[in-house]
Amino acid sequence: MEQVTLKASTSPACPKCKNPETYRVPRSFLFKKILTMVPVKRYKCYRCFNQFNLMS
Ligand SMILES: [Zn+2]
Repeated sequence: MEQVTLKASTSPACPKCKNPETYRVPRSFLFKKILTMVPVKRYKCYRCFNQFNLMS
């Protein structure tokens, strides 16, 4: 049996609890200003509410 995993979501898994259900956190105006040079995306986990940043 071959199992094919389709990744419908582009959200990364939570590094804390490995939960794949994460969502993008909208950045505030100030945060956007600061990170305008750095391609970092902020994510939040649905399960443990851990917030983490990822380089895009
Ligand atoms: Zn988590």
